[in-house]
Amino acid sequence: MQDQHGIAPSESAAAPAAGEPDHEAIIVGAGFGGMGAAIQLGRLGLTRLAILERGGDLGGTWHVNRYPGLAVDIASFTYSYSFAPNPHWSRMFAPGEELKRYAEHVADTYGLRRHMRFNTVVESARWDERARWWEVRLRGGETLTGRYLVTATGFLSQPKVPDLPGIGTFAGKVVHSTDWDDTYDLTGRRAAVIGTGATAVQLIPVVARRVAELTVYQRTPIWVTPKLDAPIPPVVRRLFARLPVTQRAARVVNSTVLEAIMVVGVLHYRHARLANRGAELLARAHLRRQVRDPELRRKLTPRYSFGCKRPTFSNTYFPSFTLPHVRLETSPIARVEPDAIVTEDGRRTEIDTLLLATGFDLWETNFPALRITGRDGLDLGGWWRANRFQAYQGLTVPGFPNLLSLNSPYSYSGLSYFTTIEAQMRHIGRLFGELRRRGSTVFEVTREANDAFLDRVTRLLGDSVFTLGNCAPARSYYFNQHGEPALLRPTATLSTLREAGRFPLSAYDYA
Ligand code: NAP
Repeated sequence: MQDQHGIAPSESAAAPAAGEPDHEAIIVGAGFGGMGAAIQLGRLGLTRLAILERGGDLGGTWHVNRYPGLAVDIASFTYSYSFAPNPHWSRMFAPGEELKRYAEHVADTYGLRRHMRFNTVVESARWDERARWWEVRLRGGETLTGRYLVTATGFLSQPKVPDLPGIGTFAGKVVHSTDWDDTYDLTGRRAAVIGTGATAVQLIPVVARRVAELTVYQRTPIWVTPKLDAPIPPVVRRLFARLPVTQRAARVVNSTVLEAIMVVGVLHYRHARLANRGAELLARAHLRRQVRDPELRRKLTPRYSFGCKRPTFSNTYFPSFTLPHVRLETSPIARVEPDAIVTEDGRRTEIDTLLLATGFDLWETNFPALRITGRDGLDLGGWWRANRFQAYQGLTVPGFPNLLSLNSPYSYSGLSYFTTIEAQMRHIGRLFGELRRRGSTVFEVTREANDAFLDRVTRLLGDSVFTLGNCAPARSYYFNQHGEPALLRPTATLSTLREAGRFPLSAYDYA
C-alpha cells in the first residue's frame, strides 16, 4: 500500500553492520507522535527503527484512555493526519475507539508494527560521544543503541492522582480516567467525580446516566462552548472515500473555524481581543441556555479569561448538573474517609465510587518523561529546570545531538496535536535532507538559534491571553512551575507549518 505521496512503507529492517548502532533511530512512544516520526523517517530511507512503548499496544492516549464518553473534542476532519485521511469516521467528533482503530490502520498501512516493542519501559538515554549514538536503557537492564533518539512520550501521559488527606483510606472503588475498569458496573452507585477538565466534561454526562447519586467536586470551572456534532451519513462517507478532495475541504473549513476560536483569540489577544471575547460570550450564552438556576450558573462560570486553560465543547455537560441526583460541590475537599468525602464547609457526602478526572502531571515528571543525558553529562530535565524550559522550534535542544524531542516546551501548535506532529515531521524531513546532502550523521542545534527562538516565542507570548488576560485563577497546565506558559507555540498554525519547511539550515551544526 502507498500513501497519497506514493511512498511505500519502509522495507524490512536489516541487521546492523559492524560498528553501527542496533538501530538507526529509537523512537520512544507508539502514539500518533511516535508513529508520525516513524513514517517520516521511513520516507527518508531509515529502515532500522525501534519503536518502544511502555503500554501493551499502540495508540498512545487512544490506547490508554477508555473512559465512557471518550471522543475527540477536535472534529475528526482536523484531528487526523492530513496525509492519511479516514473517510469512515462515524461522527464529526469520533468516539475514542475509532481513534484507536485509526491508529492501528495507520500502523498497518505504513508497516510500523514490526518496529514496535510493547510493555517496554525506557528508563534513560545517554549520548555516547565516542560512538556518536544514543545508548538507551530499558527497565530490566537491557541496553539498545540508536543513531537518533526520538522521544514521543506525549504531554498528557503521566496521570495525576490527587494527594488528598485520607485518599488512601477510601474503602470503595477508585478509578482514574486513564485506567478505566470496564468490568466495574456503575449502576446504582453513589459516585463522586473529582475534576472538571476536558475529561470530566465527557465523562460526567455518561456517568450521570448510570449512577444513583453523583457529586462533582469542582475546583476550577471550565469554559465550554456548543459542540456541533452529528453522525456522518453513509452517503457523505462514501463521498469522502470516492472524492478525497471533499474531505480535505471539510478539513480546511473546520480547521479555519477552530483556528479562529482556539488560536487567534488566544495567541493574538492584544490585537484580537474581540475574537476572544466572542468565544467567551458564546460559552456564557451556552450556559445560560442550558442552566436556568442563576446560582448554579455562577458556580459553573469561570473567573479567568477564555483560553488561559484548554476550553472544550459539549452539549451534555451543563445539563447534567440540572438532574435531581447530580450535585456540583465547590467547597474544597478537606479529606477523604473510607466511605465519604468531607468538604471544608463540613459537609460529608457518602460515596462508594471515586472517579478521578484529575488530569496529568506535565511539568514535574513529564519534561522529559525519561532521564536524558546529553554531551558532557548534561541532564535535560535538570538543565530545563535550572535554566528555562526551551527547545528550538519545540523539537531540538543544544547539548543534545541527534535528539528529536517531540513533546518539548513551545512545541504544541494550538489547533490539534496532528498539526504539531506534521510540522515536526516536516522539520525532520528538512533536517535529514541536509544531513544527507552533507554526508553527515550528527546534528545539533546551535545555541544562537535556540536562544533566538526562545527570545522570539517569549516576545510573541507577550501578545497572548497568557500574558495580557486574567489567567491566575485558571490553574492551567499550560503554565509551568515558574508561571511561564511554556507549552504552546505562539504562532499561527500555517506559519508553524511553513516555518518547519523553511527554517535556516544554519540553525544546526553538522558532523
Ligand atoms: P485537566 O484539564 O488537567 O483537568 C483536571 C481536573 O482535575 C481539573 O478540573 C483540576 O482542577 C482537577 N484536579 C486536579 N487535582 C485536583 C485536586 N487535588 N483537587 C481537586 N481537583 C483537582 O485534565 P483532563 O480533564 O484529563 O484534560 C487534560 C487534557 O486532555 C485536556 O486539556 C485536553 O487537551 C485533553 N483531553 C482531550 C480530550 C479529547 O480530545 N477527547 C478529552 C479529554 C481530555 P484545577 O483546574 O483546579 O487544577
